[in-house]
Amino acid sequence: VTAFYADYAWLGGDRADAAVQIDVDGERIADIRAGAEPSPDATRLAGITLPGLANSHSHAFHRALRGRAQGGTGSFWTWRKAMYTVAERLDPDSYLRLATAVYAEMALAGITCVGEFHYLHHDPGGTPYADPNVMQAALAEAASAAGIRITLLDTCYLTGGIGAPLDGVQVRFGDGDAERWAARAADREAAPHVRLGAAVHSVRAVPADQLATVALAASGAPLHVHLSEQPAENDACLAAHGRTPTALLDEHGVLRPSTVAVHATHLTDEDVAVLGGSGADVCFCPTTERDLADGIGPARRLLDADAELSLGSDSHAVIDVLAEARALELDERLANGERGRFDVPSLLDAATVNGHRALGWAGAGRLRVGAEADLVAIRLDSVRTAGGDDPAATAVFAATAADVTDVVVGGRPVVREGVHLRVPDVGHALSAAIGALYG
Ligand SMILES: [Zn+2]
Repeated sequence: VTAFYADYAWLGGDRADAAVQIDVDGERIADIRAGAEPSPDATRLAGITLPGLANSHSHAFHRALRGRAQGGTGSFWTWRKAMYTVAERLDPDSYLRLATAVYAEMALAGITCVGEFHYLHHDPGGTPYADPNVMQAALAEAASAAGIRITLLDTCYLTGGIGAPLDGVQVRFGDGDAERWAARAADREAAPHVRLGAAVHSVRAVPADQLATVALAASGAPLHVHLSEQPAENDACLAAHGRTPTALLDEHGVLRPSTVAVHATHLTDEDVAVLGGSGADVCFCPTTERDLADGIGPARRLLDADAELSLGSDSHAVIDVLAEARALELDERLANGERGRFDVPSLLDAATVNGHRALGWAGAGRLRVGAEADLVAIRLDSVRTAGGDDPAATAVFAATAADVTDVVVGGRPVVREGVHLRVPDVGHALSAAIGALYG
């Protein structure tokens, strides 16, 4: 049994509790006592301790665009062109180096579980590697090296647009048809830190008559899908199918309780009702949605319709789940002229327990006896966080990834005093991995 002693810890209520002893047996929490004296052997966690943060939507390689494709004009579609130039340069070795550095950056930000929406399946010419899942294996290895959990969302990506063949680098995303995608995806193995899931890239990339095949193959696992991020996707879907992307996915059995719709930005009232009624959940990626000028999705209306919300850093313009959490509320304030659309516990739920559920780690992301011992300590004495009287609200509205000091995953320390214990210089690792791609 190892022990931690948090100055404050958020145990799920309206406010954080003070003086919390957390005993860990193996990988799980064995006991929690608030208002306790520290046991003599306990490791102190200063500030406020949260459950592990979940990053429910990641494309690891998009990190290579930060600081390169953000200034100036352009749209989602011009950004996508820049993204494709990186996509065509990656091989299993460079993917491993880049993803290890990106996941280490996530660990430093308090992210203990990531959902990787993975579609770089084949070589740049579209030919399967000798091991057809070698690119995905690189991601699992990267997560292990960085000390975090991962859910591999094997993405079906068959067309370059509705009715359009794959073009250029897109050929490495494609398996030909949904049956062959399913056969390849079935040939993967989970591991203690790895869970397996699936994804429909979007209604742009999977023909309507193949959606049911993907949904069937993903039975019992998380199934994610990019949904209505851009008005152009809705327009194309309406023109081709006479219905919205939400209605099309619903018609083909894609929307169900283990489904997570990512973005859900441009929805009709009917779409909101259908999503909520299906039991599907929604992942918002507010910093990416701002960066790509996508728009502000109807977060509160989706929650009111019974869709639970989780959060992702998607394109990794920033990697900071606390920033994503407060953005849910702050963007609602801008769009609706009203404060308090989400309370602090709902925002923390989105960052923790809801994200883990979205990634198939039900029960993780809470400080509770029996849960995975994933702990994130956030300092309350930095220039950003000093002076508050509500540690949970301070964490959500003022702290950044830079205030994360300690991260424990499955009872084992991964970050200590702001330093990653396995990847000693994460900044250097990022710059080396990204620099090599642009060589
Ligand atoms: Zn995405």
